[in-house]
Amino acid sequence: MQSTPAVEVTGLVKRYGAKTAVNGLDLSVPRGCVAAVLGPNGAGKTTTVETCEGYRRPDAGHVRVLGLDPVAEAAALRPRIGVMLQSGGVYPGARAAEMLRHTAKLHRDPLDPDALIERLGLASCGRTPYRRLSGGQQQRLALAMAVIGRPELVFLDEPTAGLDPQARRATWDLVRELRADGVTVVLTTHFMDEAEQLADTVAIIDGGKVIAHGAPEELARGGAEDTLRFSGRPGLDLASLLKALPADTAAAELTPGSYRVEGKVDPQMLATVTSWCAQHGVMPDRIAVERRTLEDVFLELTGKELRS
Ligand code: ATP
Repeated sequence: MQSTPAVEVTGLVKRYGAKTAVNGLDLSVPRGCVAAVLGPNGAGKTTTVETCEGYRRPDAGHVRVLGLDPVAEAAALRPRIGVMLQSGGVYPGARAAEMLRHTAKLHRDPLDPDALIERLGLASCGRTPYRRLSGGQQQRLALAMAVIGRPELVFLDEPTAGLDPQARRATWDLVRELRADGVTVVLTTHFMDEAEQLADTVAIIDGGKVIAHGAPEELARGGAEDTLRFSGRPGLDLASLLKALPADTAAAELTPGSYRVEGKVDPQMLATVTSWCAQHGVMPDRIAVERRTLEDVFLELTGKELRS
């Protein structure tokens, strides 16, 4: 049973009237992993997550969460998963600390609510009614509510959107701790660095489908080329540099004196470029190797910025 994935989605289709929000999506999240679902606005991330949580019924395809059908077996599944709800469903007059303590009592082996309040920076507003909390405080409270019951699997929909850097870091630390405790985390995000920092596996969604998936560094490498940039005097003879480099290397002078070399950037290539510079009396002011990031891959695949 433990060997079944925490989340298994195959051929998921979800329509809203004439709009197809999810269009044949496959996603598998192994247990104990942090999985990030990335995609531009409207890609179908929230719909996918809500279907896994049992809040939406698939029009086609197959969804299993901890081996269970999230709609038909909701009663068995709900106590085992944590869901970060947006403000809906919360009594606006309830106080943050009370809400969390009350929710803790509904679980058999909860985390300590006061410790959680402290570490998510909510101590100063524990007695504040929910409706008076700031957006960021409401969001952190929602996160606390999702994890208080020590779930086996947590779904976090954009957990750090709108948070200040300190709260963002506290959220990241909490996600890392959950992972260390063996909890599976599925999060949607618009932040590449969040995916790079936290996720064992990333799925990039666009147009209701997964268009790429894998470990962040695997995806970023993706067989693609790296870049070496250097600057020196303008008008260098790049044709002569290219003769010294492997056949599939490209070089360009981007602005006068600023050069870009694309290809397999390895120590040999670096040595070739620097010795060519030495032979031609060129002292590079700056030389830098640039690796592709997830952000680059995302842009190449979707043609879109993450935040539009
Ligand atoms: P975002 O990053 O903006 O939150 P998302 O990737 O989470 O986007 P979804 O919220 O799943 O995307 O939406 C997918 C598509 O379905 C969008 O085009 C959206 O407008 C549409 N959609 C979502 N919910 C509904 C609804 N209840 N009724 C009609 N269309 C909807």
